[in-house]
Amino acid sequence: MSSHVIPGLTDSEATPTGAGYQPRTLVLLGSGHAHVHLLKSLASKPLVGVQVVLVSPHPRQLVASLLPSFVEGRRSIEDCAIALEPLVQRAGVRWLECSAKGLNARDQCLSLDNGSLLKYDWLSINTGVVMDREASERSMPGARTHALFVRPAEGFAALWPRVVALGAERALRVTVVGSGTAAIELACAVRVRLPNAAVTLVCGASPLLAIAGKATQQQLGLALRQRGITVLQDNAVGFAEGLVQLGCGATLACDIPLLATPARAPTWLLSSGLALDGHGCIATASTLRSTSHGTVFATGSVGSRKEPFEHLGGRFTAFAGHTLAQNLAAATSGAPLKPHREPTAKSLLVSLGAGRAIGHWGPLAVQGRLAGLIKQWIDQRYLAACRSSSASAPAGSR
Ligand SMILES: Cc1cc2nc3c(=O)[nH]c(=O)nc-3n(C[C@H](O)[C@H](O)[C@H](O)COP(=O)(O)OP(=O)(O)OC[C@H]3O[C@@H](n4cnc5c(N)ncnc54)[C@H](O)[C@@H]3O)c2cc1C
Repeated sequence: MSSHVIPGLTDSEATPTGAGYQPRTLVLLGSGHAHVHLLKSLASKPLVGVQVVLVSPHPRQLVASLLPSFVEGRRSIEDCAIALEPLVQRAGVRWLECSAKGLNARDQCLSLDNGSLLKYDWLSINTGVVMDREASERSMPGARTHALFVRPAEGFAALWPRVVALGAERALRVTVVGSGTAAIELACAVRVRLPNAAVTLVCGASPLLAIAGKATQQQLGLALRQRGITVLQDNAVGFAEGLVQLGCGATLACDIPLLATPARAPTWLLSSGLALDGHGCIATASTLRSTSHGTVFATGSVGSRKEPFEHLGGRFTAFAGHTLAQNLAAATSGAPLKPHREPTAKSLLVSLGAGRAIGHWGPLAVQGRLAGLIKQWIDQRYLAACRSSSASAPAGSR
């Protein structure tokens, strides 16, 4: 497909007034949680003399932390989503329903998967991280053909009902590969949804939920045993029809291998010219601005400034949306930027399915229905805040 430059969005050398006047362009790439907050903020505080363009491929933003409740059958997929159309309309933003496949930060230009180029004066990136199929295939041959990847969430959500239909016909053997919050929550959700299934969690050599304290890990191990979930401290090293190959040399019979291994920065960043951190994510200062390119901002898991606890990423990005809104307004009007104040509270809340959860806030540990209710309340409050028409400081997803 030949590239063309999107009309009306090309002239970054526009004069501020007169017949040839074209406003400068801020491109929002991805509709992650910070951008959801930003869109809400733009509805009440539009940027003066700046046209805003959103580039995001799906009509909704799935809240990944709610996916386990969809897997469990407690929520429909729509109940786990934030519709973008109302946000975009209220914010007066132009929306291109496509993805970026490349970025040239020097020329301030994105290449889109519809073959066009998109110039920007400022760019804000909130695309999240990805599960690299090729890297997974290299480390676990057969993964591409046989495993169900948890990301992208839209793809997983589309395929999960087929697993449920299969599970209604016969008892399945489900293996979840991963050791973080997503893997644990999904294993517990599968157990609730498919009560006849044999559920195994293959969590690698390090302990489950390595970021949690020993006491929480022990409680978690007990909770998984009580739910009949087998935990194997081994690596999945390959997949074939009906089996998972383990690092110890054994094979595990498996109908549905579910891959919830860590996600990585998208590979198109490598040729962008942006400074990246050791994980390939965009290196940003405390203002959320790229350390190498002053016209680029990055938030969420694609940026380098994350909470020490990875599982709190969603919450961090929601808070970061508040700072991002302030700093984009400042950048586009030539005002000084403010540093982002990261939330200091260290907490952990992992769903165990059926309305139960395990969590700790500093020294306070809670398990069972109470923790489950707290999680539901936080999730609900977050969704309601995202869907409401007024912008305020975010409630936080966790
Ligand atoms: C099963 C599961 C459970 C989880 N549980 C929790 C939890 O309990 N609490 C928590 O805080 N976190 C949880 N997480 C992690 C959480 O999903 C992430 O930390 C969080 O979603 C990161 O948000 P983000 O804003 O960086 O991007 P994302 O939520 O990943 O959103 C990125 C958006 O950008 C779009 N996009 C991607 N690439 C492009 C592109 N090239 N061009 C244009 N648009 C693009 C995507 O379509 C998407 O809409 C969980 C994850 C999973 C998979």
